[in-house]
Amino acid sequence: MSVRVRFAPSPTGFLHIGGLRTALYNYLFAKKNNGLFILRIEDTDRNRYVEGAVDNLIKTLKWSGIKFDEGPEIKNKLGPYFQSQRISKYQKHIKNLINNKKAYPCFYSKKRQLEIQQNNIPSNILTEQDKKFRNLELSESVNRMEEENYVVRLRVPSKGNVEYKDIVRGKLKFDLSLIEDQILIKSDGYPTYHFANVVDDHLMKISHVIRGEEWISSMPKHILLYQYFNWEMPEFVHLPLILNQDKTKLSKRQNDVAVEDYIKKGYLKESIINYLSLLGWHSSGDRELYSMEELIKEFSIDRIQKSGAIFDVKKLNWMNNYYIKQLKPEQILLLAQKYFSQNMQIDISMINLIYEKIERLVDIPKELDFFFNFELENEKCELIIKQKQSQIIFKELYNNINKNQKWTSDEFKNIIFNIQKKTGIKGKNLWMPIRVILTGKLNGPDIGSIIEILGFEECKKRIKNQIDE
Ligand code: GLU
Repeated sequence: MSVRVRFAPSPTGFLHIGGLRTALYNYLFAKKNNGLFILRIEDTDRNRYVEGAVDNLIKTLKWSGIKFDEGPEIKNKLGPYFQSQRISKYQKHIKNLINNKKAYPCFYSKKRQLEIQQNNIPSNILTEQDKKFRNLELSESVNRMEEENYVVRLRVPSKGNVEYKDIVRGKLKFDLSLIEDQILIKSDGYPTYHFANVVDDHLMKISHVIRGEEWISSMPKHILLYQYFNWEMPEFVHLPLILNQDKTKLSKRQNDVAVEDYIKKGYLKESIINYLSLLGWHSSGDRELYSMEELIKEFSIDRIQKSGAIFDVKKLNWMNNYYIKQLKPEQILLLAQKYFSQNMQIDISMINLIYEKIERLVDIPKELDFFFNFELENEKCELIIKQKQSQIIFKELYNNINKNQKWTSDEFKNIIFNIQKKTGIKGKNLWMPIRVILTGKLNGPDIGSIIEILGFEECKKRIKNQIDE
């Protein structure tokens, strides 16, 4: 059987980090098995449709390096890949179910429809009135469909079970008596997720459905639809939930959830992809760092876990730092350009000083800000500057530097060494005040390299400004 998998997002806003993981696992599985990866846009819920969401989604997938073989922009005989352009297919298939009494129209007067909308009556709760339509003669139903408003509901048997074998979770069984007659076609003629999803997975010859755990509860409805149509079911894989540190479902309150937010903060695609690959899956050994190509070779559905995967931003940061370090400083400078404000003329020498500790590109300006703005970072710095001993050092320093010196790290360290000899102040007591007076900070890169970049005049000015008269 040839492998065909799909990522089927609804364009309701940004691409969720969990959505990107689903896309990634589908992609890896397809590529590993010489299969095809399909992008299908599930845009039949017109109320939730967000303008621009599809473009954004495609842009984000492209950014991440996940390429689809079929989908919007790529014409193929199994398309179109927007569900809103496939309405006639759903209409044809729903007729088939109605004629076979596997689905039935439920007629709503405008008044009743309004009631449902205004009272927010969940559509899966059937009133006594709704239930009556179950037993309407087919011919009457068909006639009334010409004239009246209706939704089409799935006829769920009132007892019995359905089951399937999930590749990750094994055999799962569902009690049909707990399931209501799901709406398949809404009153606007559009299909619901359940109906369009199953029809399309079949028509698009999907071999494996790989999606989030939250869809398991839809399985009984989907299984029934496959049975009613007499279609062979694809294989199913439900991926574990992604959780906050406190094991609640990943939420905006505790983490960024939109891939866009991570991009904006300067996470590299290499680290996002690598990190997400391990969020619910593990490799055969202890290894954690993988490129996309390596992931394709290594990926296997057997190693997807059942239990929730905790999103650990510290680990993601560690990984991002690793991938930033793999870049050339010139590349980092280019990628980070957009984070610099106009007064920051950041150059390679500055990037060289800090890139090894950078976890996110967005943090670069903060790390280098002291080159452009002098400000004492905290009270401790203020205290250090005021100390008598510090002031002795500063005066010595000020008097011993002059324009004619070579303003190099070595020369500078020589000057400090002479101050040490003269004043007897050494170690941290000597170097810390110098760092603070030149950078305003307690920590940072090598001070010798810093003074070279700051230049003689700026260093002199900074020292002078902090000397007590
Ligand atoms: N449209 C659904 C979503 O937005 C797809 C779920 C599925 O893959 O079946 O997640």
